[in-house]
Amino acid sequence: MGAALEIRNLHASVEGSPILKGVNLTVRQGEVHALMGPNGSGKSTLANVLMGNPAYEVTAGQIIFDGEDILELEPDERSRKGLFLAFQYPVAIPGVTLANFLRAAINARRREENPEDKGISIPEFRRLLMEKMKYLEMNPDFAGRYLNDGFSGGEKKRAEILQMAVLQPKIAVLDETDSGLDIDALRIVASGVNRLAGPDLGVLVITHYKRILDYIKPQHIHIMMDGRIVESGGPELADQLEDSGYKPFFEKYGLVVTEE
Ligand code: ADP
Ligand code: MG
Repeated sequence: MGAALEIRNLHASVEGSPILKGVNLTVRQGEVHALMGPNGSGKSTLANVLMGNPAYEVTAGQIIFDGEDILELEPDERSRKGLFLAFQYPVAIPGVTLANFLRAAINARRREENPEDKGISIPEFRRLLMEKMKYLEMNPDFAGRYLNDGFSGGEKKRAEILQMAVLQPKIAVLDETDSGLDIDALRIVASGVNRLAGPDLGVLVITHYKRILDYIKPQHIHIMMDGRIVESGGPELADQLEDSGYKPFFEKYGLVVTEE
């Protein structure tokens, strides 16, 4: 039985305002899910809560990962257990290359599994890194860049996907936070997900861009509105979104239409 991320009746507030109002969602290893919804529906709030951002207060519900309630765990502890959140390290770290950072992250993960672990050797790490970069069709020079220092939107995404490839998490949550996300970045994320998805990886892609569905074919699509998942279905939901956008869902659930 593979690992699962189970979100149960999750309620969360930001600065005292309730944003998530009872989210239920289970993502298992081997599954690709897309969480869609208009701006302001609470998607990034969910990603922040999953990551353990202290600015977000969980007022009810549970987050179970691999059978364990992780609500009290720090972000790095969640990560070491195999839950990957793409925007966990958005800051520039001068003097630390992407390769250094990835090696440190792998070692932290290995020590979580075995406290005696001596860490991955440099040749072994280099082999792993080169193998993954080749598979993802990335230029090997990219790993020598300083972390996020002057990275373009597309390069940040590429770094996230590479991080996901070498860390080999059980479940990955990718939030497309950047409202200016360009089509290049969207393609990088989509092709990374398509290449890395498999029996050992579960993915939750969070976005309001319906166009992502031109590039990723999730088995499960969920629509979030006003802090709840109002609709879940298979690929047929993508066609419905393509044809008529979010508006019918707003109408069906009696919500005020603030955008298309
Ligand atoms: P989405 O990602 O679906 O666009 P968000 O989760 O970013 O939605 O936002 C949902 C609601 O929560 C919005 O009304 C937003 O203003 C509010 N919100 C989110 N984060 C914060 C924050 N850090 N401080 C105050 N309000 C926030
Ligand atoms: Mg968002």
